[in-house]
Amino acid sequence: MRYISTRGHAPALGFSDTLLAGLASDGGLYVPERWPVLPGVRPGASYASVAAGVVGAFAGDDLEPELLERLCREAYGSFRHPAVCPLVQLDADEWLLELFHGPTLAFKDLALQLVGRLFEHVLSERDERITVLVATSGDTGSAAISGLASCSRAQIIVLYPDGRVSDVQRRQMTTVDAPNVHCVAVEGTFDDCQGIVKELFADAALRERAGLAAMNSINWARIAAQVAYYAWATASLGDRGLVFAVPTGNFGNVLSGWVARASGMPLERLVIGSNANDILPRLLESGRLETRGVVPTLSPSMDIQISSNLERLLFELYGRDPERTASELASFAQAGSLSLDATAHAAVRELFEAATLDDEATLEAMRAEYHRSGTLLDPHTAVGLTAGRRRKAARDTPLVALATAHPAKFPEAVERATGISPALPPALSDLHERPEHTERAPAETDAVRRLVERIAAS
Ligand SMILES: *Cc1c(COP(=O)(O)O)cnc(C)c1O
Repeated sequence: MRYISTRGHAPALGFSDTLLAGLASDGGLYVPERWPVLPGVRPGASYASVAAGVVGAFAGDDLEPELLERLCREAYGSFRHPAVCPLVQLDADEWLLELFHGPTLAFKDLALQLVGRLFEHVLSERDERITVLVATSGDTGSAAISGLASCSRAQIIVLYPDGRVSDVQRRQMTTVDAPNVHCVAVEGTFDDCQGIVKELFADAALRERAGLAAMNSINWARIAAQVAYYAWATASLGDRGLVFAVPTGNFGNVLSGWVARASGMPLERLVIGSNANDILPRLLESGRLETRGVVPTLSPSMDIQISSNLERLLFELYGRDPERTASELASFAQAGSLSLDATAHAAVRELFEAATLDDEATLEAMRAEYHRSGTLLDPHTAVGLTAGRRRKAARDTPLVALATAHPAKFPEAVERATGISPALPPALSDLHERPEHTERAPAETDAVRRLVERIAAS
């Protein structure tokens, strides 16, 4: 299986090289040259074995099936729930797919527990070292740190927007006391952090010197690993096409649903749940992608305007034409807006729809669901579930809402909505007593470049 860049000017790579490369050298994102056919799911198969099959389809000859089975068993063995991501029935035709039973309480663990182990494997085979550079809106940082806990060959630098992540999110990163972990509070927004990461990746000399690698969803391995839970839910509910509701920020999670369908899985519809940072719902409505300022909300992991994975979708919508993708994205970067043509607009609306919930609607949804079923939803999950319930198409098709965070990760919002303060799982119960380690940086690429150089050389 070969991977090509959405911008057409980087070498095609195999799965392991794509894993290490992250962003393509021309600034594009890697996508498979052609879509694989996903293997069928054996009845009664464990989550780890479903994931090994799915990731294996994307890895091609690069990784042995037995190796992938072992890495998946180890990765998902760290989860608190024996089913890894249980489906919890909420109503006759409605399920929550709980993706928050991993070590850091958000769905990012599903991909990053495996990606960290893939890094360790490939790096030790090649006897190489890397510096992982991550921008986080809150949850990727801790999940990446945890995924790399056993990887002695990686330094990890996490950029997070100062004051814009929750207390629990920040502490899950800054209380990890390990010599290879470096947390940086950036004086700006998540989009600033992500912009800096992209600029540093575009610096070929730095990239080479520091061995920069990515664990953001620009890394294809992460998208591939996430396809597994769409396959798992679909097989668990009788192999029929479902509607998935996905609280969306950087478009990585929902893109994996799109990839699942492109790779032959039945899937009726993807409903994007958005908070007040509603660039994606506006895109679906009007065909125009247009940024506005980022506003902080109760669902901070979705406080994003520039969803980097949209590039992978645009590439497909433009008939896999890299020149067109590159030029449209260049003018988007300049003008702050981009218009889909009628064909592309119709094609996205055929599969996706979206709904927006402001903070008040999010709290109301959390409160109502608690009173209806006793279920505590985190604010992100509440946005997704409610968007799914509001869908206009495929109303007779069962709904699976992706529960992307444990309610205890956002206790203030949960308590405001329901009066209940959810407890952290035992492994994290002393989180608020642990000392924090962090440094600060202005939202300037050069300042962060110096920091990366220093850490990579250490
Ligand atoms: C990261 C995150 C999201 C957004 O996922 P994307 O892949 O960035 O769209 C939603 N909810 C939670 C809890 C998250 O951590």
